[in-house]
Amino acid sequence: MPSYYLTTFGCQMNEHDSERIRGVLEEDGWQPASGPETADLLVFNTCAVRKSAENRLLGRLGEASRLKKENPGRLVALGGCFAQRRREKLFNELPFLDVAFGPRSIAELPRLLANATAGSRSAAPAPSYSFESKPTLSADLPVRRSDRFRAWVQVMSGCTNCCSYCVVPSVRGPERSRPAADIVAEVERLVDDGVAEVTLLGQNVNAYGLDLEKDSPGRLTFSGLLHRLDAISGLERIRFTTSHPRDLNDDLIAAIRDLPGVCEHLHLPVQSGSTHVLGRMKRGYTRDEYLALAERLYEAVPELALTTDIIVGFPGEREEDFYRTTTLVERIRFDGAFTFVFSSRPGTEAAGLPGKVPEKAIRRRMRELVSLTQRLAQAKNRQLIGRQLPVLVEGSSRHAGGQMRGRTRTNKIVNFSGAAGAGQVVDVTIDSATSTTLGGRQAC
Ligand code: SAH
Ligand code: SF4
Repeated sequence: MPSYYLTTFGCQMNEHDSERIRGVLEEDGWQPASGPETADLLVFNTCAVRKSAENRLLGRLGEASRLKKENPGRLVALGGCFAQRRREKLFNELPFLDVAFGPRSIAELPRLLANATAGSRSAAPAPSYSFESKPTLSADLPVRRSDRFRAWVQVMSGCTNCCSYCVVPSVRGPERSRPAADIVAEVERLVDDGVAEVTLLGQNVNAYGLDLEKDSPGRLTFSGLLHRLDAISGLERIRFTTSHPRDLNDDLIAAIRDLPGVCEHLHLPVQSGSTHVLGRMKRGYTRDEYLALAERLYEAVPELALTTDIIVGFPGEREEDFYRTTTLVERIRFDGAFTFVFSSRPGTEAAGLPGKVPEKAIRRRMRELVSLTQRLAQAKNRQLIGRQLPVLVEGSSRHAGGQMRGRTRTNKIVNFSGAAGAGQVVDVTIDSATSTTLGGRQAC
């Protein structure tokens, strides 16, 4: 059987798309190779959200070009958001490329690969690509899951927001929700297959269902969907990402508070603590609205872990704007934050905004913010020392010898000593904490 080697860049949606790429390839007769050198096909599932992801990809493509030279019969395929952004131009930029496909064309892979194989035998091979614009909502695509007990479930595709810095809406198209019945059926199948935890995926899950016709049968809002999924017996934990602050309503807060399966963790990207910058980002909420939302969340669910994304150095970010981000972070005390340097993406509105922040200021702000978010995360984690928490075991710990690794309901990684097996939920007494992980021992 011919073999493939897949490399994934970017977000959880891409991780899940890669599971579908694997599923489609394996159904088409390809088997996984142990490394790129031995593979007949090299596939890259790419990201275009920041320039840094594109640079990492270009570094890896150097190796692909070398391997292709070594064996011209080897195929190279590029999928995902970077591919969708560059489209046909890719074939001029990367002469060793055989196949390109966008995030909405995964199902086309077998046809594209067959074309490319036929092309490589002909004198003038034609580029083989598909950048179709139909949403990849279907659960009909086969999936090769990377985890036995946890699964991603896509509830919607695309994004209809217009955050001024972001390429996602242009590469993944407008928001499309999957019918609730399909999602429920998929989760039921996963649970039958032994899955204990699902993570519902969408760029803006809080807007789930809003694009479906009012009278479409079985239409549910996102909190309605959570109620429906929570009723599935055997499903231990439900997570979801990403939530948009503007669309997060009281029904969802109540669902997190009341539904036993819904975990007490919310990833709620704030992006900036300054209303001035938020306006330029077109986020659709103010600093005070975000603070009030966080307050309502903590009031309803005191145990809640809140994590966030923050962009530093957005055009027009003044010293006082950055200061407002730090004071918001201090007030909210996030459990974790992904901090990004603003990356100017061609074609986005922000790329044309005046007020470029000097590199030196960006680096200093980044250092300050990272140290602040880490200090607060560690302080929050330290408060858990001495507590006994239910942990879903994921397997052996990567670091500590002989230890197990799992996650709390609040999505904190725990390395612990004990004899539990993957997929089990066990109580762990927490005895140490860093900004990113907890340590402990299994309670008897
Ligand atoms: N749909 C999600 C996530 C989108 S991308 C959301 O709205 O939150 C993940 C994160 O990448 C964003 O939250 C943002 O913080 C960051 N990001 C997106 N575009 C960026 C850019 N041009 N420069 C820097 N960071 C960016
Ligand atoms: Fe990008 Fe904004 Fe959509 Fe998130 S909500 S994917 S940041 S446009």
